[in-house]
Amino acid sequence: MNQPANGIAAMPNTPLKSDNGWPASKDPAEIGIKSYLIKGTDIKIRCAKKAGPLLAAFAAEFNEKIEPIDKGALDDWGYCFRMVRGREDRLSNHSSGTAIDLNATKHPLGAEHTFAEGKAAIIIELCAKYGLKWGGTYRNRKDEMHFEVCLTPKQATERINALGLEQ
Ligand SMILES: [Zn+2]
Repeated sequence: MNQPANGIAAMPNTPLKSDNGWPASKDPAEIGIKSYLIKGTDIKIRCAKKAGPLLAAFAAEFNEKIEPIDKGALDDWGYCFRMVRGREDRLSNHSSGTAIDLNATKHPLGAEHTFAEGKAAIIIELCAKYGLKWGGTYRNRKDEMHFEVCLTPKQATERINALGLEQ
């Protein structure tokens, strides 16, 4: 929504932003992408510095309360520079390191009700706690593997402090 159609091509010198307004780049160093360990697992996710503590803490609770995150699976990831799937005018929030996909093979893009009974309500509560939006609540195409930050960078820092998370 933050990039007009063709905005990327028309304004090559404008700093890129992902769909949620966070700075996006092909170069992970430029936007401070760091690796975060998900507590309770040996899985690491790559996320933006100001978003990573929220996403990693969310993922730890997901692993504990929703379902185990597949160990060593290749389908769990965060930062990745790309468009929203099927779109050419919107950069995915993975491009700013502010989104993660969990257990993607169990929860494929477009599928609905892929979580066990009662889990969706807990997911929604956890997302509210960490300032995230769940792709399972998208109005059109559902994306139940997908979780993204829906706070500004400033709000994210405030939330990290309020929750007492490690930076
Ligand atoms: Zn995703």
